[in-house]
Amino acid sequence: MDQKAANTDLALRTRATRVIPGGMWGHQNAARLPKGYPQYFSRAEGCRTWDADGREYIDFICGWGPTILGYNDVDVEAAAADQRARGDAMNGPSERLVELAELLVETVPHADWAMFSKNGTDATTACVTIARAGTGRRKVLVARGAYHGAIPWCTPSVAGVTEEDRAHLIQYDYNDAASLEAAVDQAGNDLAAILVSAFKHDLGKEHALPTRAFATRARALADLTGAALIVDDVRAGFRLHMGGSWELVGVRPDLAAWSKAIANGYALAAVTGNDRFREAATKIFTTGSFWTAAVSMAAAVATIEKLKKTGGIDTMVAMGQRLRDGIDRQASRHGLAVRQSGPVQMPVILFDDDADRRLGNAFCLELLARGVYMHPTHTMFLCAAHTVADIDQTLAASDEALATVARL
Ligand SMILES: *Cc1c(COP(=O)(O)O)cnc(C)c1O
Repeated sequence: MDQKAANTDLALRTRATRVIPGGMWGHQNAARLPKGYPQYFSRAEGCRTWDADGREYIDFICGWGPTILGYNDVDVEAAAADQRARGDAMNGPSERLVELAELLVETVPHADWAMFSKNGTDATTACVTIARAGTGRRKVLVARGAYHGAIPWCTPSVAGVTEEDRAHLIQYDYNDAASLEAAVDQAGNDLAAILVSAFKHDLGKEHALPTRAFATRARALADLTGAALIVDDVRAGFRLHMGGSWELVGVRPDLAAWSKAIANGYALAAVTGNDRFREAATKIFTTGSFWTAAVSMAAAVATIEKLKKTGGIDTMVAMGQRLRDGIDRQASRHGLAVRQSGPVQMPVILFDDDADRRLGNAFCLELLARGVYMHPTHTMFLCAAHTVADIDQTLAASDEALATVARL
């Protein structure tokens, strides 16, 4: 086998099945997608990705969220390269740590302080731990179906998880103040935290922004009980509002978890918090081998500054709206009932009467064949590198894709 043949998607998958359990773990296992999606990628630039077989896509997954300015952004890469030349994972942090914490405190209204780690799961777990340390209580309220990470207390799987890992979680329904109140009652005087997603973005379900009534009630219940209000902004952070997603509804959390987009693809997570939880944050022991690495922090500083300077969110909203309006027009012309929900820059596209995902999967496969990478059930992500031309090229593909779906 020559080297090139050895690197095709099929060849890589075949090799991987021997040395990687199941070929790939987690949500990035292409076996979870309709048959026909690539598993391996070779390159990415702007809003485009190339799979291992060299096929080019306009990308609406953006690395599952981390890419917010575009892949390989020149300013982020320059900042990262500059820091890499000085040092990355050293015996302690570089000045970038302080710079980035200052920038977050300046940018995020609820934040009096910030701490850093690597993955969103690190950040959501730290928020819960800080809330428990600060309140001396155990119960944490989580919305049914919400995703907060992939370790035993929060993973969607039950394999390897014990009941005890989740002993102190109580469920409520997102955007349902009455169910939240019932959960608060159930926690009694042992309530440590109310954990909320930035918006309802459950897999395969219609997405929904928090209602003002729900968000306000969550804040009031936390205040009333002395519990922490935690916003999991890992997925939505800096895509909806530079100050944190719940600024949209005028509610400030005590603690927030961030990751995905904050360093435009570099591995970084953050917890921001207010002064009420500052001392608790000093008491927990939290650390990781790579958590003070400086390159990702330099990338984050450059990412946040560029998003602010260039109005990155406005661009994503404008492009997301253009995409949504276009697909709505096409769907009605083709006589298809398509439900597009979530913020336009973080959409999910679902078809009516499609419990078996036949229509949604076919739509995505038709798009894929035309050089557009979308997902049939997961939150999608626009980035600030999507242009009018990219959206219009996508719409040309979606018009043909919907025509095919309409004939099914
Ligand atoms: C992705 C995600 C997480 C987990 O982040 P990882 O970096 O994958 O550990 C937590 N919460 C939400 C809402 C997410 O989207």
